[in-house]
Amino acid sequence: MIDQFSLEGRTAVVTGANTGIGQASAVALAGAGAKIVAVGRSAMDETKEKIDAPERFHAIRADLSVTANLAPVIEEAIAWSGGVDILVNNAGIIRRNAALDFTEDDWDAVMDTNLKSAFFLSQAAARHMKERGGGRIVNIASLMSFQGGIRIASYTAAKSGLAGMTRLLACEWASLGINVNAVAPGYVVTNNTEALRNDPVRYQAILDRIPAGHWAEPEDIAGAVVYLASDAARYVHGILLPVDGGWLAR
Ligand code: NAP
Repeated sequence: MIDQFSLEGRTAVVTGANTGIGQASAVALAGAGAKIVAVGRSAMDETKEKIDAPERFHAIRADLSVTANLAPVIEEAIAWSGGVDILVNNAGIIRRNAALDFTEDDWDAVMDTNLKSAFFLSQAAARHMKERGGGRIVNIASLMSFQGGIRIASYTAAKSGLAGMTRLLACEWASLGINVNAVAPGYVVTNNTEALRNDPVRYQAILDRIPAGHWAEPEDIAGAVVYLASDAARYVHGILLPVDGGWLAR
């Protein structure tokens, strides 16, 4: 049974892998045996050190909010590894402001990075996976794929869009042997939530609602990414798997 979770011989492209959930996912996928292509706009040295297998690690520097950068990322990943089996669309940003004051820049920046880039990177990867006979795409969604939230209009729109996109791509690509799914993390201690954690009232209100009684660490999310990337999930298509300490069950 445990063999079904092995990613030995596979290559995983992970975006935003220098920190947070992306870094924890890259480390976990490598731990399951995958070669890692870490993509982002910052240096990947810390992630490379954590993986501690330089021959199974390749970094690509790219700003993913620029669509023209996306297909070349997949081309370089294929050139380095020989073939891409897994794509984890993790890179994301958040902008906080009241909806009445929300700016076009805060709308476009989040939509481009969190939604548009995930679509066109998936398209580039799936064109390759189709020829390869299959693959896995794991999107990092959010509780805001299910709920509204406050002060994060473009983030909620992008993560809700990512949920719909996950289902659509699953329907179109399941017959190609490509599984498209998403993990929906709860509240995780990363740069993304720094402002929330620095607000004692909001922090406590969130904590009080989490059945597990604590925020997640990035490593709490990574197991679900490995599962959806593995053969154990071979008949799983188009789901959003919450990893939220029970938040949505409440
Ligand atoms: P994070 O530590 O801020 O990580 C975000 C990652 O995305 C970083 O590696 C960042 O690179 C990268 N990134 C942002 N814009 C980019 C761009 N234009 N091009 C390339 N890379 C870019 O936060 P995180 O919490 O781990 O976020 C990872 C994902 O989880 C995001 O999609 C986020 O929405 C989602 N998520 C987080 C939570 C949470 O509670 N933390 C909950 C649900 C979902 P830099 O370091 O260079 O900025």
